Amino acid sequence: MTNKKEQMKKIVFIISAFVSLSATAQTASDAKMDAFINGLMKKMTLDEKIGQLNLPGSGDIVTGQASNSDIGKKIREGKVGGLFNIKGADKIREVQRVAVEETRLKIPLLFGMDVIHGYRTTFPIPLGLSCSWDMQLVEESARIAAMEASADGICWTFSPMVDIARDPRWGRISEGSGEDVYLGSAVAKAMVKGYQGNDLKKDNTILSCVKHYAMYGAAEGGRDYNTTDMSRVRMFNEYLPPYKAAIDAGAGSVMASFNEVDGIPATGNRFLMTDVLRRQWGFKGFVVTDYTGINEMIDHGMGDLQQVSALALHAGIDMDMVGEGFLTTLKRSLQEKKITQKEIDDACRLVLQAKYKLGLFEDPYRYCNAERAKTDIYTSANRQRARQIAAESFVLLKNQNKVLPLKRTATIGLIGPLGDTRENMAGTWSVATDLSKSISLKEGLEKALGTNGKLLYAKGSSFSADSNFEKRGTMFGRELKKDDHSSAELLEEALRVANQSDVIIAAMGEASEMSGESSSRTNLDIPGIQKELLAALLKTGKPVVLVLFTGRPLTLTWEQANVPAILNVWFGGSEAGDAIADVLFGKVNPSGKLTTTFPQNVGQIPLYYSHKNTGRPLPEGKWFEKFRSNYLDVSNDPLYPFGYGLSYTDFSYSEIKLSSDQLKSNGTITATIAVTNTGNLEGKEVVQLYIRDMVGSITRPVKELKGFQKISLKPGETKNVSFTIGSNDLKFYNSEMKYVAEPGDFKLFIGGNSRDVKESSFTLK
Ligand code: BGC
Repeated sequence: MTNKKEQMKKIVFIISAFVSLSATAQTASDAKMDAFINGLMKKMTLDEKIGQLNLPGSGDIVTGQASNSDIGKKIREGKVGGLFNIKGADKIREVQRVAVEETRLKIPLLFGMDVIHGYRTTFPIPLGLSCSWDMQLVEESARIAAMEASADGICWTFSPMVDIARDPRWGRISEGSGEDVYLGSAVAKAMVKGYQGNDLKKDNTILSCVKHYAMYGAAEGGRDYNTTDMSRVRMFNEYLPPYKAAIDAGAGSVMASFNEVDGIPATGNRFLMTDVLRRQWGFKGFVVTDYTGINEMIDHGMGDLQQVSALALHAGIDMDMVGEGFLTTLKRSLQEKKITQKEIDDACRLVLQAKYKLGLFEDPYRYCNAERAKTDIYTSANRQRARQIAAESFVLLKNQNKVLPLKRTATIGLIGPLGDTRENMAGTWSVATDLSKSISLKEGLEKALGTNGKLLYAKGSSFSADSNFEKRGTMFGRELKKDDHSSAELLEEALRVANQSDVIIAAMGEASEMSGESSSRTNLDIPGIQKELLAALLKTGKPVVLVLFTGRPLTLTWEQANVPAILNVWFGGSEAGDAIADVLFGKVNPSGKLTTTFPQNVGQIPLYYSHKNTGRPLPEGKWFEKFRSNYLDVSNDPLYPFGYGLSYTDFSYSEIKLSSDQLKSNGTITATIAVTNTGNLEGKEVVQLYIRDMVGSITRPVKELKGFQKISLKPGETKNVSFTIGSNDLKFYNSEMKYVAEPGDFKLFIGGNSRDVKESSFTLK
């Protein structure tokens, strides 16, 4: 016993010695950095300092002409701190050369890019990726993205996007992790770790930028760039935690959002950028605007360019993307005493610190290794991982009579406008990928079938009967293949294929640019002409599997009622076609679970599982009761709840065992449940823990996710899954903005989705 104690003492001593040594090393390296930057800043003119705050787009730069172009000229004059969305190690090396050889102070540039879900190798869109509920995979996808991007000259990504979104009309719901604050925080942390690793100076780690700060996902009406207005209690409990999680994980930069908050655009909002971000959360990195966020404050009605630029700097913005408000007005504002020298210095210092931390002062070409660019990008190993990760993101929504998995020996009719399009596989914000090289569903199925089965294909319909809508939804090289056939001819061909097939795969839904930025919708149905095709296919009496492509929750009430099997594949990335085939033929058993509620219709929006109770809730299982909180025409239920997703096998849950029904404020209790695979296939299940605080000083949600574990079970196998709960898990911001756990009764739920759960209860003392 004494021996053990002695050993423990030794271990504690070694750990604390190590911690204090590394803290000392940290302070020493900070001091070295400060000395370097102080020295540099002493040499800088006011113009050069303001130049560091300028982030133009890559504009007119072409390889070999960097120093002659307009931007090249600005770089030489010391008017540029970084560039974004310029691609290719050679080109970036050339531009960097201008900065470090042809400018007075030889300060290297930052090179940023929207590396959102992969670089050349692309992973599922973030909403899909979150449905894997596998934080190791999420982190790995960001790691691979960082390795590829850094091999091609990029040292800074505008990711992760952690905006909580509960309005599927908003196209950018596709870029985040859905509606839940707990899961969203876990993803935020994993992404930052994946990009930045544990040492930013390594040549394969990149600086992350958490965006869009803040509450961009709550824009009114789901319309982009629109107003956000919410209580502080809601902000701090439901929307801010994922940004904070990214900051706590060490995110080196933050991007301001386009929306206003409390009547002040985020870009000029000192409460957000200084009071919360820096003072409350201790953020030490720099803040960049989103695109022309400063200039846009003119239209918001905050003043002219000089006024809004001063407002932004004063609020806590350090770098101005694209708009050049800082570059063109800050000097004048300083002369007129509208801003202070210290404000400019502080911003400049933070930008220089980021460059220092990336190691750019030691080696400005650290990320421009042409050899690595040849060997490390789009490798077969990376593509293989992207294929596996994509398969984990798909969500099986329905599988009546076990239509899926399909037999490889069958004759399969692939029908629908998304069946044969490489361009629509990668999904929105895949700027560095080569769209023409993605694996289409048709190619994936052909490879998987080989010579065993047979694949027949027909496009079946155009994407939409409204060609203007189709144009708006298929921009940036993502058009669907055009053909000259009339709708009647396309349908006829589809029915011919259907009648020759054993089973039909209907590849339908949204095109990839129908979600993402500036892609809001008010109608969330599959476009009408595709739905008509689907109905005609169902009439043939052949089994139909709907392979649904989408960047947001769609309204699928009719499909759920009529189509035997639905597999939601989001936009799975460059390897999507292979990954979908893997799941359709059962090489991979689907295990994705929704991270966003699918409503029955648009009128129910916003619909999310962690809502509050009203004073007149509906009794469980009821639909309409007069003078209760409900609708005349539709129940309050979602079509598919948060956390939902099926498998090719089945799982059963035991009752919950609690180690105690009394939780002391400084103690913990454990909730255990036995999960059994009752089917015939091995499968993975995401076991989810929810808690409800029964009485609070403010009203509390009916359920909040507080834990999850993804487990794998062989047929017949049972595993005990345990969650430890302490008072920290029960904390929330009360009306005085204090973060507290209030004693009282709690309900605890565990299940495979937010609706179908086992229940228990405990009391916090
Ligand atoms: C988007 C950002 C993006 C930026 C740079 C903006 O329009 O809102 O998410 O990072 O452009 O491309």
